Amino acid sequence: MTRQPEQTPSIVPFDEDNTPLARAVAEQLRARAAVRFNDPLPRPADTRVMVVANQKGGVGKTTTTVNLAAALAQQGLRVLVVDLDPQGNASTALSIEHRRGVLSSYDVLVDSTPLVDAVQPHPEIAGLFVVPATIDLAGAEIELVNVMSRESRLRKALAGHPLVHGESEDRFDYVLIDCPPSLGLLTLNALVGGEEMLIPIQAEYYALEGLGQLLETVEMVRTHLNPGLSVSTILITMYDARTRLAAGVADEVREHFASQVLKTSIPRSVRVSEAPSYGQSVMTYDPGSPGALSYLEAARELANKGADQ
Ligand code: ADP
Ligand code: MG
Repeated sequence: MTRQPEQTPSIVPFDEDNTPLARAVAEQLRARAAVRFNDPLPRPADTRVMVVANQKGGVGKTTTTVNLAAALAQQGLRVLVVDLDPQGNASTALSIEHRRGVLSSYDVLVDSTPLVDAVQPHPEIAGLFVVPATIDLAGAEIELVNVMSRESRLRKALAGHPLVHGESEDRFDYVLIDCPPSLGLLTLNALVGGEEMLIPIQAEYYALEGLGQLLETVEMVRTHLNPGLSVSTILITMYDARTRLAAGVADEVREHFASQVLKTSIPRSVRVSEAPSYGQSVMTYDPGSPGALSYLEAARELANKGADQ
């Protein structure tokens, strides 16, 4: 008996964006986006400085910063991203030069370089600007310890930028600060420098663990350093509609933070995680994907919420 050559099973990668449910959601979102794309987003009355923070790593801070910033800018607003994570992932995802020697958030915080000197325009998206982070920033936590007013360096730098607040037509509408996954001096600088916090929460079992500590830190900052800080926005990320766990976590978050949680949550989607390796946000990498459409919708909600305030 002759043996058949063994067949190599063809590997069909499971594509989360291509399930019937994902397609249905995408279709619905696309229809809604098409209707609404025509009305431009409202400009806020003043620059909104938003700190994207959560001391847990991997919850979607950088992804949220990058994609919300791109989505806001694509819808006509002027946005500055400040990368405060030594990993520089936001800079990478936005294709912004951040090798050693490039003026960066490190120079702004440690050497008092004016913020305006470290700003680079995004190569493709008009109205989007980035202050990159270089690996030097890893040393800043320690280097800043003996520096005067070490926790308000970013605040001072933002106040000195001519397009943050003020009357100019070119004023930034949003400044989004991407924080590292810790509650050290870098995150503290962001909390002291910002007015609103945007906390991404990953829809998974331990989601709320550590949130208490984060909120205590915010309270401490409010009492001693920045009374104007508020937790204005919570975004549920990496939501997997197929699991009851994700739904349960999302419900719990909504119960605790009814007025802060955006109605839109961001689905888990391979396109979102692939985009950074092409130096892109998902907004340009695959604009019709559920992840991109969700960030577009989240940006719209954020902008409209801000206009109501
Ligand atoms: P953080 O900045 O909080 O550490 P990231 O934004 O870097 O988190 O996200 C952690 C990982 O999860 C990254 O590999 C990112 O590509 C991936 N990721 C983030 N959001 C999604 C999503 N909606 N779907 C799939 N993967 C995601
Ligand atoms: Mg990050």
